[in-house]
Amino acid sequence: MTARLIVRMTAPLLVISGLLLAVGVGTAWYVQRLQKNASEVLTLNVASMRAAEELEIGLREVRNQLDRFLLTRDRKYLERAFALRQETDHWLEEAERLATTPQEARMMAAVKQGYEHLFQELDHISQQASAEGLPPERMGELIDEVLTSEIIKPAHEYLDFNEYQATSATQRNQSLADRMVLGLLLLGICGPGAGLLAGFSIARRVSRSIVRLSLPIRDAAGKLNEVVGPVTLSAGWSLDELEGVLCRMAEQIGAVIEQMQQSQREALRAEQLAAVGQLAAGLAHELRNPLMSMKILVQAAAERGDPASLGSRGLRVLEEEIIRLERLTRTFLDFARPPRPEKQTFEARALLEQTVAFLAGRASQRDVQLDCRLPDHPVWMEADMGQVRQVLLNLLLNALDAVPDGGTVRVELEVPEGPDGEGRDRRWLVLRVADTGHGLPAGLGQGIFTPFVSTKGTGMGLGLSVCKRIVEAHGGEITAADRPGGGAVFSVRLPCLCENSSFVVRH
Ligand code: ADP
Repeated sequence: MTARLIVRMTAPLLVISGLLLAVGVGTAWYVQRLQKNASEVLTLNVASMRAAEELEIGLREVRNQLDRFLLTRDRKYLERAFALRQETDHWLEEAERLATTPQEARMMAAVKQGYEHLFQELDHISQQASAEGLPPERMGELIDEVLTSEIIKPAHEYLDFNEYQATSATQRNQSLADRMVLGLLLLGICGPGAGLLAGFSIARRVSRSIVRLSLPIRDAAGKLNEVVGPVTLSAGWSLDELEGVLCRMAEQIGAVIEQMQQSQREALRAEQLAAVGQLAAGLAHELRNPLMSMKILVQAAAERGDPASLGSRGLRVLEEEIIRLERLTRTFLDFARPPRPEKQTFEARALLEQTVAFLAGRASQRDVQLDCRLPDHPVWMEADMGQVRQVLLNLLLNALDAVPDGGTVRVELEVPEGPDGEGRDRRWLVLRVADTGHGLPAGLGQGIFTPFVSTKGTGMGLGLSVCKRIVEAHGGEITAADRPGGGAVFSVRLPCLCENSSFVVRH
């Protein structure tokens, strides 16, 4: 998250740096190539110029010797001219080798042609018996037309051409260097300028983010003010100030959380005390009725001064009330200190059948139809069998209490498909007890699972709260709802070790 934010913030700088790097690398490569080309051209031109100069010097020396020969008719000058040929040959070959452009090649071809022509003529002259017989016009022609015009002139042009090439290469280099300096200068100005611009844009973004952040922070600070006192915030924030503000707010939030936890603990304690008070009130109420009946009977006998006056009826009432008190105490103890479930593996269908059979007589007395819909395969579960039986019994007794004579009570056992509602790959069974009675007491909802809630004249209101406690101790849940056609339905969801399949209906 932070890395993405940094990349987003510095993106313009990254782009500019990348561009500058690319331009820098491109320029360096271009300069290096130009330098290389220019030095190659210059080296070639200098070598060509040297060859052309040496050739021209040699040829001028040849002309010198021939001029002397013409004046003196002394053959030694002719021989000296021939002796110079070795050197001029070398420089002619060198100049030819270095003539790379078509223009240079043309010039050197002309020089070569004239050169060969001159030495052919000179060979011819040297073979003649006497130098005196050679007409001076012929020799003058050879020197002026062949040597000067056909050889020295194009050789000089070759030299001029190379000089011109070298000069223009130097000029080109110079102008390129000027342009390069200008470009680098521009880059030097634009680079920092662009960097400044990017920095400015980043700073603007950061400041905008701070402004945007400041609104919820001020809002939160305002709310915190109400709880833990003032949080001081300055008008304009720098990054350091923002850090300080956030640190202070984190401290305040910590204090608020501390306060909240404290009040939660207090609320829980108050709730527990209220529950204890409610339990005590419920228990006192339940105890008072039987105690009151017993007190009246005993007081009446005491007033008569004859304990035997209680009679068998009075004793029966006393016994019934004592039994009621005993039952109340046991149920209350079950509720207050529920025994830990002692789990064992058993088959749920058999347990259901037994419990239903246990109540069959009571149901038939009132002509109540007791249905039992069970799966056609064993449903194994790992639970406290006695406690599960108690749950089923409580639900069935309540249902029998709720239905009128001739009504129906139905027990269903189902193993739904797939994982449980919370996505856990765990199997569950659902046990439903539905009746055609008067439905749940209006306005109570799931409050019927609260201890001592009862709408029955003689009810203690502990049956359903004991059921809830047992079911939750097994990791399950219990809910109550009205049936659309009238009556109530209680659903118990418990873990099982079972397969799912269809129902088998038994009456
Ligand atoms: P008690 O049976 O002693 O009243 P319970 O905790 O078993 O205590 O039940 C609490 C209340 O829930 C009952 O008084 C009754 O109002 C309601 N109740 C329980 N079962 C049913 C039912 N099948 N149909 C309608 N109301 C029911």
